[in-house]
Amino acid sequence: MQKIDNYDFSGKRAIVRVDFNVPLNENFQITDDTRIRAAIPTLKKVLEKGGSLIIMSHLGRPKGPTAKYSLKHIISAIEEKLGVKVQFAPDCMGTEAAELSKNLKPGEVLLLENLRFYAEEEGKPRDLAEDVTEEVKKAAKAEMKEKQKEFTKVLASYADCYINDAFGTAHRAHASTALIAKYFPDDKMFGYVMEGEITAIDKVLKSPEKPVTAIIGGAKVSSKIAIIEKLFDVADNMIICGGMAFTFAKAKGGKIGKSLCEDDQLELALTILDKAKAKGVKIYFEGDVVAADAFSNDANKQVCDIMNIPDGWLGMDAGPETLKLWETILNNSKTILWNGPAGVFEMPSFATGTLKIAELLAQVTAKGAFTLVGGGDSVAAVTQMGYAKKVSYVSTGGGAMLEYLEGIELPGIKAIREV
Ligand code: AMP
Repeated sequence: MQKIDNYDFSGKRAIVRVDFNVPLNENFQITDDTRIRAAIPTLKKVLEKGGSLIIMSHLGRPKGPTAKYSLKHIISAIEEKLGVKVQFAPDCMGTEAAELSKNLKPGEVLLLENLRFYAEEEGKPRDLAEDVTEEVKKAAKAEMKEKQKEFTKVLASYADCYINDAFGTAHRAHASTALIAKYFPDDKMFGYVMEGEITAIDKVLKSPEKPVTAIIGGAKVSSKIAIIEKLFDVADNMIICGGMAFTFAKAKGGKIGKSLCEDDQLELALTILDKAKAKGVKIYFEGDVVAADAFSNDANKQVCDIMNIPDGWLGMDAGPETLKLWETILNNSKTILWNGPAGVFEMPSFATGTLKIAELLAQVTAKGAFTLVGGGDSVAAVTQMGYAKKVSYVSTGGGAMLEYLEGIELPGIKAIREV
């Protein structure tokens, strides 16, 4: 397999799939440029080694060409960070894009317009009426697959080599994230973002230093079951926190008041606890919680046992005794994975537990532990606290990271690895 560090880019045009799906405000200003900054080392490497760049990405979920989702809004941000002028192809297909890419000289950069202006990128037919027959649907899908092949071939024709650096979309088998790789059997590779993500997650899943602690929080047990079970293979401890802890508490006979609970998952919660026991994983969901008399930042609060929450009250955050226990567990861990908040952290009154985890992770990282943080809310918490650089790795790909942790082979990774 080719590696970006060893590949000879001189005189070559590299088509790079990045994840420039950045949030924009109503004036089309970027409100968080993390994803652009993340891809810069890969882009710079190609230019430094004498190559030229064709950058491709999606932005938002357009149903066709839409000014609001044009990548032209981010040209100046790329130019500023890369220190190079960026040419723009206002259509990722067509003669202009083909000409511009053909004429690229070493050191030059071309940005293609939003790939998702074409349904072919995702390969799903758009605008199909809801009441069409299965047969019509099937025919439309088959037709789209053919169009997608053509679309992919055209993208591939622009370049001599392909780099995938979009971990955030690696779990999708789209034209630019997976299908295009086959046109570059000997000239395809991961960019540094992809390499970094894969190395960090593999470190937890395949060769972790023990003891390993997984902190799994968030709203619902149902969305995290696969990960919880997969992590039983590597974890010594698992802290279950946030809204999902209450389903476990109720399943074990606790009184949880009005707290968030998935009543249809109570059986499953008990099965998970049994499986943990059988695998020798210690699960922690009990302890004190901060309960509120309403789902509001200004609600009245009291600390109570998760197994005994008064009627009409709801658990919103971890309590002080629970936080002390977590501190001990984390201080004794060598590898820690964190996904999902420990409370309703969007409300400052109930953000203490989530922020405390971020702080503890920064502390234990400084003492030599390997700490991996993933998932939108957990990433927001470490960033908000200024700890993003003080943990070992912050994963940029929410859905992709979760699927990779579940043990699913991501199409974007497979396409580069397969010969
Ligand atoms: P997820 O997307 O599953 O990681 O869940 C994140 C959401 O869980 C956040 O919006 C939190 O506000 C929410 N959450 C965390 N703890 C609680 C809780 N105790 N009660 C209700 N929602 C919670």
